Parts: sequence; C-alpha cells; structure tokens
Amino acid sequence: MKKIRKGTQAGDAEKVTALVTKLNRYRHEYYNLAAPSVSDAVYDHLFDELQELEKQTGIILSNSPTQTVGAAPVSSLKKVEHPIPLLSLDKTKQMEELLEMAGRSASLLMLKLDGLTVKICYENGRLVEASTRGDGETGELVTHNIPAFYNVPVSIPYKGRLVVTGEGIIHRDDFEEIKWEVSDGRKEACNARNLAAGSIRLLYPAACRKRHIHFYAFNVIEGMEGFGKIADSRGKLLETLRPLGFEVCPFLPYTTKVSMEELEKGIRDLKNTAEDKGLPIDGMVLRYDSLSYSKGCGRTGHHYKDGIAYKFEDEVQETVFKSVEWTPGRSGEIAPVAVFDAVEIDGCRVTRASLHNISFIKDLELHPGCRILVSKRNMIIPHIEDNLDRGHYEKGMIPGKCPCCGKPVRIYARKGSGGRIIETLHCDNLDCRNQLLRKLVHFAGKKAMDISGISEAVIDRFIEKGFLHTCQDFYHLDHYRGEIIRMEGFGERSYEKMQESIEKSRHTTFVRYVVAMDIPLIGRTAGRALDSFFKGNLQEFAKAAVDCFDFTSLPEFGEKMSRSIREWFHDWDNLRLWKTLQKELHFEEREEESMKNRTENNPFAGCTVVATGKLAHFTRDGINSRITSLGATAGSSVTRKTDYLICGEKPGSKLAKARELGIPVLTEQEFLDMIPA
Ligand SMILES: [Zn+2]
Repeated sequence: MKKIRKGTQAGDAEKVTALVTKLNRYRHEYYNLAAPSVSDAVYDHLFDELQELEKQTGIILSNSPTQTVGAAPVSSLKKVEHPIPLLSLDKTKQMEELLEMAGRSASLLMLKLDGLTVKICYENGRLVEASTRGDGETGELVTHNIPAFYNVPVSIPYKGRLVVTGEGIIHRDDFEEIKWEVSDGRKEACNARNLAAGSIRLLYPAACRKRHIHFYAFNVIEGMEGFGKIADSRGKLLETLRPLGFEVCPFLPYTTKVSMEELEKGIRDLKNTAEDKGLPIDGMVLRYDSLSYSKGCGRTGHHYKDGIAYKFEDEVQETVFKSVEWTPGRSGEIAPVAVFDAVEIDGCRVTRASLHNISFIKDLELHPGCRILVSKRNMIIPHIEDNLDRGHYEKGMIPGKCPCCGKPVRIYARKGSGGRIIETLHCDNLDCRNQLLRKLVHFAGKKAMDISGISEAVIDRFIEKGFLHTCQDFYHLDHYRGEIIRMEGFGERSYEKMQESIEKSRHTTFVRYVVAMDIPLIGRTAGRALDSFFKGNLQEFAKAAVDCFDFTSLPEFGEKMSRSIREWFHDWDNLRLWKTLQKELHFEEREEESMKNRTENNPFAGCTVVATGKLAHFTRDGINSRITSLGATAGSSVTRKTDYLICGEKPGSKLAKARELGIPVLTEQEFLDMIPA
C-alpha cells in the first residue's frame, strides 16, 4: 500500500462515485428529459468540485462528466498473450462437492457473474491495457472500450503496476431496455451475456458506451504486493481495490468449519444481493482465501485447482406442445422445430426449440397437446427435456411429402454416437424452393462471395420471378434490369447499388470461392488449408480432387472431409459450375502474399526502431510487437544502427543519445501516421 499517494482516504472513492452519479443524473435531466432539477450555477459548482476532487485523489472514473473525449475506435481487435494464463475453474452442480472443497481451507463464496472476463492493467496510475480472457492463453485487446464502461477508474492513486481481472456485464434492467434496440428483432441477442461479450469487443467505443457495461473486479493478478504478502488474504486484497474506485464482485468469507446449512444460506443471500443489484449470474464461485494455500493447489491444463464453480441447474418450465415445423436446409435435410405455447425461461420468452431429427421426436413420443418440459441448455439454447404425456405417439408426426415442394421425402438412417441409429428426413428435389434459397443465401454470404447488397428476402423474390436458378445467375441479373427496377420496393438506385456489390464480389479469393461452392464439411478453415497447400491454384486443387488425391495429408483433414471433396468433384454438375463460374471472376493475390506486401511496403521495413518513454497507445511489449509486425527490428538501446527513435513522455537518456547521433526522432503520433492502414 506504500505506493498509494499520501493523503488518500478510504472514503475518497465513495465521494468521487457519489459526485459522478449525482452530476450524471443532472445531465440526464437536462439533456434527455429537458427538466433540470438544479440551476446551471449549482451544476457548475459541483462540476468544479468533482474536478478538484479528481485532481486531489487521483481517481477518475470512466463515466465521469469531466471525461468527455472518448477513446478512438480501432480497425480490428489485436490478439494479446496473457503472461499469466487466465484459466477457469472446474465446474460442478453438486453442493456436496462445494462443501467438501470449502472444508479444506478458509474460502470465499462469490457470485459467478454472467458476462465476459476482462483483464485491466494500470501503470503509473493510468489505465494502459485491457484484454478479454479469450481461451485463457490469448485474448483480444479491448483497451479502447474501457473508458466506455460505466464504472471503471481510468486513473487511480496507486502508482505501481496493477493487473485486475473481473467480469464485464450488463445489468438486468439495462438489458431489458436495450435488448430490443440492438436485437433488430433477432432472438440471438436475447441474452445478457452474449450482448455483453459482443459489446466489449466492439470496435467503436461510442457504440460500446450505449451498452451500459459495468465491471466487477474478482481478482488481483499483479500489484498491491506488500499488502497481499502481509495479509495472505484474497478477500482483503480485493477490498484494497475499493478505495481505488473499483466495484468488487459481491462475496462472503467462510472458515473451514462451514456447514451445509451455512453454505446454502450464503448462496441464498448472495442470490438476493444479485437480485437487488440486478446482476446477471449463472452460479457461484468458491475460492480459497489464503493466497499461499491457493498457490499450493496448482493447476491442470485448463483449470486452477484452488476453487470451483458451482453452476445452478438449468431452469425448466412446463408448457404444451403444439406442432412440428419442417424446413429443408441447403443440404436437403429437412430440420424439425417444435412449436409450443410461450413460456418464460431465464427472463426470455420461448416458443420454439429444435427437435434435431426424427429419432429425437420418436424417443420423446411427441404428439400435439402433450405437456412438455422445456429448458435453455447453458441458459441459451431452448431444449425439450421431457414429455409428461407419453404413450400417444402417432406415425403421422413425420410428413411423407416435402413441406416446401410437395415431392416425396426420403428417410436416411446413420449411426450416431454410442451406436444409436439416427434417422433424418430429406428432400432430394434439387429445385426445392427453400433448399435453393438456402444455397443461394450461403453463396452470397459474407464468408463466401460476400455480395452485400442483396438480402435474403430479395433472393427469395428473384427465385420466385425466375431470375435466379443457380449461383451463376447472380452475375447475369442485368438481363432482368427493367423488370427488377419495376419491382415493388426497387428502383434505379437500389438496382445500381445491388449491381455494384455484385460486381465487387467478382474480385474474390481462393478461400471465398471454395467456401461459396459449399462442398460438404469444407468451411473457411479447411479452405485456408487448401489455399496454403495448393498455393492458391484452383486448377491444381480441382485436378487433385478429380484424380482422387488423399487430402488427409493436409492439417486437420480427416477421411470424411477427404472423401467429401472427391465426391463433390466427381459430380458433373458441380464440376461444370466450378469451371464456368471461375471464368467470370477475378482472383486476388493470396492472403499470405498480401501479408508479405504489408510488411514490405512501409517505411519501417528492414529498419531498426527503438521506443522510449511512456506511450499513450502501447505498452512496452505492445510497441515492440507492432514494430516487429512491420518487418522491422525492435531495438532495446540507441546505437549507430538505429534508424528511428519513437519518443513518448519522460524519455530519459535514449533521446539524448539519439540527438547526439543524429537519429530521426518520431512522436508516437508521427509513427502511427507513417504506418499504412
Ligand atoms: Zn422439397
């Protein structure tokens, strides 16, 4: 605690928070409600008081009205490695396991918040870097969005290096308010965790701000050293964060003598706290309080062993099953979806759930009017758990004709896991409307040809009008120019816009083309492997497939994928499409090649670049890896061989040396400006 500035009081953070909350309320009244409850003079007076308090305490919160300039957006999220892996804890649904764990050493019972885990680093009292947990080893940099969070200090009075992890979440009531705005009618956003995760990873801080992300700290990874050692208590270490302006995830301490009753009461109490504060949770976490004991527990490849996550059972609701909806997909498989009376699960209205296949329906013995139990697996995917009125299954549940085109269907049986036979329903009619629609939508999709100016609804209408029969027809829609322009909702301008995006899609890549062809089991990852193996040569790839090449020699390619490629190329229709469509397209250089160009076509390629002083956008490691990514060498000291010195705040001796040797000195901004976008 030595590094905290003299004179910082425990109550300072509360004072800052209270003042920020008050001023934000007045601003809301003034700007949004046009009904200010205080005069401008009072507001100005409080504003000045806050500014003074921020200066005195060194605490500035992300939502402080004094912080009007947001961070700049980024063009993509950069990957970052976690030197100390952010592993998760093992999970259980058994209270007994929780109790046994708690009996070994004094522990903390903590809310398991349901959002995205974020790591925030501070140096010299300033926020310098933030990243997502990712897979624990590698995350994504989201520093730009932290000032757009609601309750994170961007400046703290502690001057040492501090690394804090916590959960970025959206409060339940905030979620209710914004979910319709952002979901666009889609049901995917109907989940606070997904929305929080997506929002924290947005490129535009201004957009992130609108999502009301709050951060609750749950661990100190680096910093506060002296304190942790003396107290050897995770709980007390967490408490040191409060005077710095952090909100801490609610927790309760337990001694080793905890009983089942106490544990159950603790869970109830914490659940109530979560309810009161509107915090989204999906369980509890139990972690040992003693930091040295925790350390001694060690880890497995995936988990730290000093704690356990207790997941609540999935919420199950009873409702009445109505019918099955059958929809052919682009492979011809007709997927069944259950429709039932609306129920509310985890705060979301649910009316449908996938039934997967015929066997699933038979096993459940579903029939119209039966009572069913519905849950949301992992709190996301609606799932029928059971049928309460079994014994009335009728064969008529499975249609004999395709619900889309009316042609007879085929039942296909395959062996599933555990040797179980799984039956699926198929429509073999290549002109089946929905199949064709799904195929064309896939072809025009973002990962395939990326024809952005044509929506699914428009594709559907074009199929109906007979403008689109095959993928190739996208490139000949100009034949129907007059008719399209006369279509309702269309006009000259939207036609031109659509054509523009179609023409743009003619400039494509090997990977896009392979994805667009929709070879079963071959997606983008496989496409990239093929691109790399065949050096972007489509002819070589097709020749190999026709000659029955064994693709299992490629990384991650199994026998099924290998066979799927060969079979696809042995279909005459496929091969014809593959060959003729290529002639209408223009293939860009391969990704690897363009990457090479990027590292060569910049003023720093081949140079030795040294950075010094405190930089605004980079940590020391960050700037060095950026320099390396430009094909330059990141030097550690200034010598005659140094080509550039990037100079931040408080540079020190390197700047003097560079001036002495006549080496060009760049500010951080000048450096950034010189890098091609
Ligand atoms: Zn059909």
